Amino acid sequence: MLTLGVESSCDETSVAVVRDGREILSNMISSQIEIHRLFGGVVPEIASRKHVSAILPMLDLALEEAGITMEDVDLICATRGPGLIGALLVGLTAARGLALASHKPFVGVNHIRGHICANYLTHKDLEPPFVGLIVSGGHSYLIHVTDYVDFTLYGKTRDDAAGEAFDKVARAMGIGYPGGPVIDKLAKEGEKTYDLPRVMLEADSYDFSFSGLKTAVLNELNQAKQKGEEIRVADMAASFQAAVIDVLVEKSFRLARELGEKTIVLAGGVSANSGLRAAMESRGEKEGVAIYYPDPILCTDNAAMIASVGYYSHLKGEAGSVYADPNLGLE
Ligand code: ATP
Ligand code: MG
Ligand code: FE
Repeated sequence: MLTLGVESSCDETSVAVVRDGREILSNMISSQIEIHRLFGGVVPEIASRKHVSAILPMLDLALEEAGITMEDVDLICATRGPGLIGALLVGLTAARGLALASHKPFVGVNHIRGHICANYLTHKDLEPPFVGLIVSGGHSYLIHVTDYVDFTLYGKTRDDAAGEAFDKVARAMGIGYPGGPVIDKLAKEGEKTYDLPRVMLEADSYDFSFSGLKTAVLNELNQAKQKGEEIRVADMAASFQAAVIDVLVEKSFRLARELGEKTIVLAGGVSANSGLRAAMESRGEKEGVAIYYPDPILCTDNAAMIASVGYYSHLKGEAGSVYADPNLGLE
């Protein structure tokens, strides 16, 4: 079955063609990062306008790259949330219009579920059940994935998402946007010399909280400024990243142990982090737990992962809502 996927929830306009939920025939991604970088973050109105101009060319490119025409497409899917409402509406409306005009089935997709499915595209042998850690720009979730479309939520962030913390800390240090890749690179050159908190919350909680860590970094930056001292940027990057990783690793392995699962799957933009991958793998080796994460290009937003979720939902007979929901939850 050939699925056409459309993603426009934030600042990437992407259209993809995927066979049977697993094999990418094309995955065209038009990123707006360069424009939003000028503002230090995504400007919603600009994002919507850029999606409007990019969506049809990306659709043509995706079909061309896959070597197919619209007639060959069996199923059409698009992200319906969570995300920026104006941005979501562009891709969703285009995809729904296409489905109506071509009399093809349509599935509205949850973007966060898409991040999990990026792993099915990367690892052809991966199957549920497993523990899923989703750490993206706007969300942090710890879940038990029991089936392609079913899972149980164990933890989520109570304030900032993991990726958001990377972005805010990088912005405060004035080292660039988006913050994740910059901090990842700098952390390799630095030492973990700053003492920063690991916020674990209640002993039995799987929730996350990253705003206290962010504030601790801001306090260090302010104190250095007041004393007229230079902040050691690479050391701060290494210290901050280690504090995030320690919490993510600890909670993921605790949940795996509780559930008796021997597989942990990472997803979302922060799963591209080299320190997180290495820490997960080294703990995994010690505890006999297999660690999976997506190819780098599939960690951040793309339409191939949206096509994959849509395919598995369609197989289960779940068409879902076709309306945009900016606050769509994982539950
Ligand atoms: P959501 O999926 O929650 O709606 P989003 O789509 O904006 O949010 P993603 O595309 O999954 O988020 O990921 C972007 C985030 O990933 C940004 O916060 C970015 O800083 C972070 N990120 C990207 N690469 C890395 C990296 N190597 N290390 C840490 N964080 C990273
Ligand atoms: Mg993005
Ligand atoms: Fe995302």
